[in-house]
Amino acid sequence: MKKKIITAIRNMLPGCSVSAKVISNEKIDNAKVETATKIITELQSEMDGFTQKGSGPFIAAIYDADGNLVVKAANTVINDNCSNNHAEMNAIRAAEQKLGTYDLAQYKLKLYVTSEPCMMCLGGILWSGIKEVYYGVPTKSVEEITGFDEGFKPNWFEEFKKRGIIVYGNIEPKLGEQELYKYVQKGNKVY
Ligand SMILES: [Zn+2]
Repeated sequence: MKKKIITAIRNMLPGCSVSAKVISNEKIDNAKVETATKIITELQSEMDGFTQKGSGPFIAAIYDADGNLVVKAANTVINDNCSNNHAEMNAIRAAEQKLGTYDLAQYKLKLYVTSEPCMMCLGGILWSGIKEVYYGVPTKSVEEITGFDEGFKPNWFEEFKKRGIIVYGNIEPKLGEQELYKYVQKGNKVY
């Protein structure tokens, strides 16, 4: 019953125009969707804590092949005065420093992020050696709700597939849309 009510509230939120179906560049694996749902839901629940400290409304986490957390990072563009410091870039940088390498490929790492990566982060992910990407809110919703410009990203699911990188998108998007909506409602900066 409680779950039904929460779903009903989520469905009533403004800006939720994109369908919530999970998409992938490989055959959908339910176990992967389940794990990603758990992790991304957790990240969304931590959003308020990060944005109250001046972070942008995006959080990324990198997990190893055994499902252990390697690093977690939020978007720190404003706090650091650095346009490159998106959540994904911060997480990749931290993981590379922690593991002492510029190429993460050997570790078969998975990146989980609350919203679809922007054009810069797609490049950053490619060069990092990350092998799997899972995201919550699709770009169309991010742009509609917040006004953030996510850049141009032609056919990136296919391009990632060609390079052996698995992508799953639209993991619990309504939950993420709710967090983005809260961020703009509070009058936080869009940049
Ligand atoms: Zn980005």
